Amino acid sequence: MCCFCKHNGESRHIYMGHKLKDNQGRIVCPVLRMYSCSLCGATGDMSHTKKYCPLNKENHCLYNKSGRNSAGRKVKR
Ligand SMILES: [Zn+2]
Ligand SMILES: [Zn+2]
Repeated sequence: MCCFCKHNGESRHIYMGHKLKDNQGRIVCPVLRMYSCSLCGATGDMSHTKKYCPLNKENHCLYNKSGRNSAGRKVKR
């Protein structure tokens, strides 16, 4: 069954009708596949919610949001 849909409050026949991931760890839930992560933009096979985003742990600090420091700064060696 699909934990994601269950958690979203979908009806029982919906979340019991499919799994969240297949054996290879790819997303099979049609609802989650349509979702694109607002943090990293992952969707389809790689889809996840913001809560489960691998970037989320590092970016819980909102100062990092623009990303300009690391992307725009030139580093001399
Ligand atoms: Zn689902
Ligand atoms: Zn993400």
